[in-house]
Amino acid sequence: MENNYQLILDEINKTMLKVGRKDDILVIAVTKTVDINVVKEFLNFGITDIGENKVQELLKRHEVLGDKVEYHLIGHLQSNKVRKVVGKTKLIHSVDSIKLLDTINRISGEENAITDILAEINISEEENKTGMKIEELDDFVNRVQECDNVRLKGLMTMGPNVEDENLIRNVFRQARELKEQIQIKNYKNVSMEYLSMGMSNDYKIAIEEGANIVRIGSALFGKRNY
Ligand SMILES: *Cc1c(COP(=O)(O)O)cnc(C)c1O
Repeated sequence: MENNYQLILDEINKTMLKVGRKDDILVIAVTKTVDINVVKEFLNFGITDIGENKVQELLKRHEVLGDKVEYHLIGHLQSNKVRKVVGKTKLIHSVDSIKLLDTINRISGEENAITDILAEINISEEENKTGMKIEELDDFVNRVQECDNVRLKGLMTMGPNVEDENLIRNVFRQARELKEQIQIKNYKNVSMEYLSMGMSNDYKIAIEEGANIVRIGSALFGKRNY
């Protein structure tokens, strides 16, 4: 188990070489359901950032690990839980509506915080996937310009749950194109630094297509039992 992190870093380096990339990749260790002692062990291996998809779980990690690590909320966020996470996350990856954006902005203002977010987009439009449709992204980005306590730092998406690598690649490529289209416009409160895509089964494809944040759970910690 202890070498899984190193193995993934090696695979990432190989992939970067293959496509001629030299920029940095941030690996988020997705720790959902992982025993806290195992998480601590992985921090010794060099993990710097962890991701949880539930607010309550993120807060539990925060209580124990404090500022030893950076926190990423990667799952759906309900408006009534925003105050609990503002100030505790490096990035909220799962901002998927203008309503949620407005709430994060308002509460960040009340808490004297600037909150860094990603816009989650659902490119494959699979039924069970969260995220905005591509058509909703324009209005969202426009709204961000009025939200001075929020910084939009990029996009997050999930690859479709299919075998066909080309379908997965296609989704990642579209996400990259959308990110670049927003980037060149120099919107207020927007700096498209990050493209968060790629999980245990598709992170290499994601990196080939431009991801600079990958969110990896089972390939690090083993299969989740839930
Ligand atoms: C669980 C989860 C991951 C990690 O998935 P693995 O397949 O275990 O690597 C990544 N992103 C999100 C949003 C998740 O919920």
